[in-house]
Amino acid sequence: MRPHDILLPVAAGLCCKPGGFHIDPVRPVERAVITHGHSDHARPGHGAVLATQETLDMMRLRYGDNFARSTQAIRYGEEIRLGDVTVKFHPAGHVLGSAQIAVSCKDTCIVASGDYKDATDPTCAPFEVVPCDVFITEATFGLPVFRHGDAADEVKKLLASVALFPERAHLVGAYSLGKAQRVIALLREQGYDAPVYLHGAMEEITHYYQSRGIALGELRPVKGMKKADLAGTIALAPPQATSDIWTRRFPDPVTAFASGWMRVRARARQRGIELPLVISDHADWDGLTATIAATGAGEVWVTHGQEDALVHWCKSRGLAARPLDLVGYGDEEESEAVAADEA
Ligand SMILES: [Zn+2]
Ligand SMILES: [Zn+2]
Repeated sequence: MRPHDILLPVAAGLCCKPGGFHIDPVRPVERAVITHGHSDHARPGHGAVLATQETLDMMRLRYGDNFARSTQAIRYGEEIRLGDVTVKFHPAGHVLGSAQIAVSCKDTCIVASGDYKDATDPTCAPFEVVPCDVFITEATFGLPVFRHGDAADEVKKLLASVALFPERAHLVGAYSLGKAQRVIALLREQGYDAPVYLHGAMEEITHYYQSRGIALGELRPVKGMKKADLAGTIALAPPQATSDIWTRRFPDPVTAFASGWMRVRARARQRGIELPLVISDHADWDGLTATIAATGAGEVWVTHGQEDALVHWCKSRGLAARPLDLVGYGDEEESEAVAADEA
């Protein structure tokens, strides 16, 4: 069977005709199979939704109980027959509950990896290489200039700054779903055991992580704290909050931002980030290329991000490759609000 008879990019997203479903549809569909909880991948209004329990819970938290007509949870490694295909979920290492979806029909296997990273992350199951014929990869950081380095080193930088400026607060901009919890877990791995303060917008999702057994230590709301009492503390907030009047409640805050984009110094400067932290939940160039090679796929479809360089790299290695031209997927390393401000 030809791969595009199994999965085909259409306006609503990636369509699996023989299985009767779409993967991460951007428009309401009858049957949706969803890779992870970020809002551009997991949208409300579908008929039936198949996803991991965590992804379903995150959709419920964001959209309310009626986010879909019906839901079905699937575990990593579990296989389900849908129409003429089978789907199997594998960890994507991106955020809690994130999955790659292997779609098999006869003897052809396509893996839609959603967003993924091969770097370690204490807040989610590690990325798994899934051998396949066609690998669908994201390309958020699909340029050789993007090398994220070790996230632990970035957190050490943050702690060094906290030690250096005990009279100032440290305000870390981080995407609310996934990045914030990872930064907290990384701080704990470095032995930081003081309370970490949270912007109100990330309390619910962070407590959800804790309810799933992710150890994050003591967390406190920023709200209700006296300014002077926030000296020497670390607080996490959605990226857009670190540049608005909300920051006035902190004593002389050091503004940090945890994102793969912080590799680009001009970007940090432009946003007034004093302490850029290169921490990404997406694979960097080395991660993308190593993963593509490891899957053994002879064909690669490249989507959301910087497709051209990765397509070129694949072709130079003798792989068939093409951009997928899917629209509607954002870049969660930046928040939507910040992107709108910058536009
Ligand atoms: Zn994502
Ligand atoms: Zn994405």
